[in-house]
Amino acid sequence: MAKKPASMGFSEYQRLAMSTAIYPREYSIYYPALGLSGEVGELNNKIKKRIRDHAELDREDMKSELGDVLWYVSALASDLGLDLGDVAASNVDKLLRRRKNGTIKGSGDMR
Ligand SMILES: [Mg+2]
Repeated sequence: MAKKPASMGFSEYQRLAMSTAIYPREYSIYYPALGLSGEVGELNNKIKKRIRDHAELDREDMKSELGDVLWYVSALASDLGLDLGDVAASNVDKLLRRRKNGTIKGSGDMR
């Protein structure tokens, strides 16, 4: 078994993560979109229980759930023909441009 890197770039993550994808190709886009919703629900449910139980969040559990979310984001990007590294870089470029232009607050995709 290959040694797991401590951290990696998004493109490398996407390549390795998608080697574990086993869902039917006829459900591409739909399967990861639904899975993403499910994993975000799992994450939020555990955070919700912090309110109910007044318990501390388990950081390792949160890390695992965030990883599950990332897997489905990666799968959805793959099904859309997008490189996850490019998705990440484009997003941070957009946010830095908005900060520079003083439009980081407010709403609308074209700020
Ligand atoms: Mg999960």
